[in-house]
Amino acid sequence: MSNISLDQKEGYVWHNGEYVELKESKVHILTHSLHYASSIFEGCRIYNGKVFKLNEHIERLFKSADLMKIKIPFSRQEIINACEELVRKNNLTFGYMRPLVWYGSQSMKIVPTTNKVECMVACWDTQTGKSTMIDKKAGLRLVLSNWIKPSEKMQPVHAKASCNYGTMILAKADAFEQGFDDVLMLDQYGYIAESSVANVFFVKENTLYTPTTKYALEGITRRSVISIANSLSIPVIEGDFPIEFLNDTEGFFLTGTAIEIAPVESINVSGKEIKFTDTEIADAITKEFYKIVQAL
Ligand code: PMP
Repeated sequence: MSNISLDQKEGYVWHNGEYVELKESKVHILTHSLHYASSIFEGCRIYNGKVFKLNEHIERLFKSADLMKIKIPFSRQEIINACEELVRKNNLTFGYMRPLVWYGSQSMKIVPTTNKVECMVACWDTQTGKSTMIDKKAGLRLVLSNWIKPSEKMQPVHAKASCNYGTMILAKADAFEQGFDDVLMLDQYGYIAESSVANVFFVKENTLYTPTTKYALEGITRRSVISIANSLSIPVIEGDFPIEFLNDTEGFFLTGTAIEIAPVESINVSGKEIKFTDTEIADAITKEFYKIVQAL
């Protein structure tokens, strides 16, 4: 695995139906989506040369497209085939995959009626789940963000749309400036929504609690974790939880494609540090999760 800049990586990208060299891939400087964040995307993980939950990711890509009124000029199956072929072409065993759909450069009008819809899939090598799991053992230190998740009347909150990410970028950048690893964000009603780019789970008395997805992305890892918890007979309660819920929470972890399952060690809420020491359920679920992805 190499840490070289993404734009220097060798390999191929699928762009509008063609496989081109990643280093040679190009978009025009007047691309609509570069100016107005009018793109949608996915983030998938490759384990043992297979894309984990690829169908679900492509389904969510099409749902995001509908929510953003984008007509993808390829079928679900064509994109799935491209993703699978790209992993083979790039000879990847463990990696990250990024499908992206955006409006081209034909017009700068805000409603892109004459802009071509472009589509690409790229992928590159990343650390394996196992090695990232070792790093995560230390536990993340979060801070409660002053930013909140947008209202459904402001943004298409269930789309994995670039326009939603401005708030998350600022929230996480604030956390870094204060020396934390990430944030917890509330919704407009003051209930816990999710982290910057990950869903959240809490453990209390051998039960898992997770916020509803009213103001959070419907995470594919979240869904896998709930199904693993069901298979281990761990009760899961979805609901609206105020921040005070954390005062007697024993365990806390994040879930997401990039972060996988990551225990949280503490959260700073208005200067008060709340600690989480129970990782038993997180460990049991993580073990099952890696069993599943390693058997792909
Ligand atoms: N919430 C947000 C805002 C995200 O960007 C992500 C990452 N896709 C998640 C949650 C976790 O979703 P998933 O498990 O599908 O990666």
